[in-house]
Amino acid sequence: MLQRKEIHHILDGYVRDEITIATMGSHTALQILKGARDEGFKNLVICKRGTEEVYQQFGVADELLIIENYEQFMEEKFLEKLIERNVILIPHGSFVEYLSPKRIENELLVPMLGNRMVLEWESDREKEREWMEHAGLRLPEEFKDPKDIDRLVMVKFPGAKGGKDYFLASNPEEFERKLKKTGLRDKDRFTIQEFVIGTRFYPHYFYSPLKNRLELLSMDIRYESNIDGLSRLPHILQDGTPEPSFVVTGNIPVVARESLLNPILKMGQSVVKASQELFSPGLIGPFCIETICTEELEFIVFEISARIVAGTNLYINGSPYSQLLYQEPMSTGRRISREIKDALMDDSLDSVIY
Ligand code: AMP
Repeated sequence: MLQRKEIHHILDGYVRDEITIATMGSHTALQILKGARDEGFKNLVICKRGTEEVYQQFGVADELLIIENYEQFMEEKFLEKLIERNVILIPHGSFVEYLSPKRIENELLVPMLGNRMVLEWESDREKEREWMEHAGLRLPEEFKDPKDIDRLVMVKFPGAKGGKDYFLASNPEEFERKLKKTGLRDKDRFTIQEFVIGTRFYPHYFYSPLKNRLELLSMDIRYESNIDGLSRLPHILQDGTPEPSFVVTGNIPVVARESLLNPILKMGQSVVKASQELFSPGLIGPFCIETICTEELEFIVFEISARIVAGTNLYINGSPYSQLLYQEPMSTGRRISREIKDALMDDSLDSVIY
């Protein structure tokens, strides 16, 4: 694990007026780049060859660096290029997936927004569960032994991209049959989780260590294929219905009933507090809690994303919530650059960068 002081040493060498906000061209890069510009920073996007057109098309980046593959990102020469440009990297979902949490922790010697320690807590399901339990959140029941399955469950695998290989089962026999179909799986590594029925809410938070304040910036629902398509055909599909899958294809805006905002804020506060207790200084910047709200109006939480999530792309010009907090269009991408700008003015960049 790269040490904080190594990264802060590099940061100390940065020319304060020349700081460049950079990210990988994918996921939420458009709003991160626009937000950096809106806050007066230079910006830079790193694209794998073939993906650059979007960033050229929208004209959001001052500089575009092309790499042939993600391996190249980690090469010493490339990292030096970023450091020369006084780059602060902004991690997002694709950034973490393509570069891998372990390599980011151990090799990515470029200052990055947030706390790198969070990667380990987010990417390991058991640690993530410990974090959520520590925060006192209500979690879906888990079945350690498939023989105990007594209701509809969702079977999850580590590294299943966007929920692609997940499957549903209602009893041990169905579980075994479907597990066999998936073939290759290491038996110990799946998670069998109660399938919670309710409505999904993915609130987007921002925790500012400078202000010691948690902000609710927006929320979304993930649009998932094929489950969101199957739900349009319940009367037609019966025998031979395809296995539901949960691959994220887009995001839908949502607001919560106003009386639910209090519990939503409380969940965010507990997650931040637990992170500070488990891996000080804890969460820094944007994060999301993936929840399902039941008919008893209880939130059941099944995941934390400890970085900017793609659902924030709906709100490049602000959301109903961010408009209450800010008198200007405030996306999560822009809020990130605002925090960096505030930290620069306060001479406390090292409290938001690791
Ligand atoms: P995940 O990979 O954990 O984010 O899950 C992918 C998708 O599966 C989510 O966006 C939900 O639609 C659905 N999902 C995950 N866990 C549960 C659960 N315990 N109950 C119901 N739906 C779930």
